[in-house]
Amino acid sequence: MQETLQALQGLQQIDRHIFKVQAEQRRLPEELALRTTKIEEQEAKLQEMRTRIRGVRSEAKEIEDLTVGMRQRLRKLESESNKGKVDAALLMSYQHEMRKLKRNISQAEDDALKKMEAGDAGDANIVTAESQLELAKSVFDEFEANVAKELEEANSRFDELQADRDKLSADGIETDHLELYRRLLEIREGEALAELLDGHCQACFVQIPKNIGVRLARGTEMVQCPSCDRIFYQY
Ligand SMILES: [Zn+2]
Repeated sequence: MQETLQALQGLQQIDRHIFKVQAEQRRLPEELALRTTKIEEQEAKLQEMRTRIRGVRSEAKEIEDLTVGMRQRLRKLESESNKGKVDAALLMSYQHEMRKLKRNISQAEDDALKKMEAGDAGDANIVTAESQLELAKSVFDEFEANVAKELEEANSRFDELQADRDKLSADGIETDHLELYRRLLEIREGEALAELLDGHCQACFVQIPKNIGVRLARGTEMVQCPSCDRIFYQY
């Protein structure tokens, strides 16, 4: 068992670094994707603002077009009323319609003005959002370039480690033991082994019952930490 543990310790020396590099290889693209999504959300929001403001402006335009028609009608009624040939009943009806038109025109002018103001406020918000997006994009571009560089470094580091790893033989290690070691590497974040020292696991620092130390010292079986499951070794 001593030979197995020594062989595993040899593997562990490199596997711990491989684990870290692999974590980097996963983390970097994930973070980039997350930031890409954020930029896209920001762009979509800006587009939404632009659409909304275009809508408000076109509503204002519609109202203005409507008042043009109402003003024309008003002028026509005014000129008809002033001709003097109109009978009293028709005149009253004209006057009634003219009052109504004036009210509607005034209301429409208020509405149009409010929409124009909302459009102007929206334009100001868009200018702010555009400059925020531009800033976010330049930060993103820098980050993206860094990620590419870091990823390239991680990849070449990985290749180096893998080459070193390939030189180590795992031939002398039983399949079961090797599988256990690999599983622990994954679940214990790159540290599958732990030293048992002074009655404590040096990975999780839990106090270990004496009989486990005795079993380990006997050197005839693989002994794991009862708390973190790591494979024990001791000097
Ligand atoms: Zn432990």
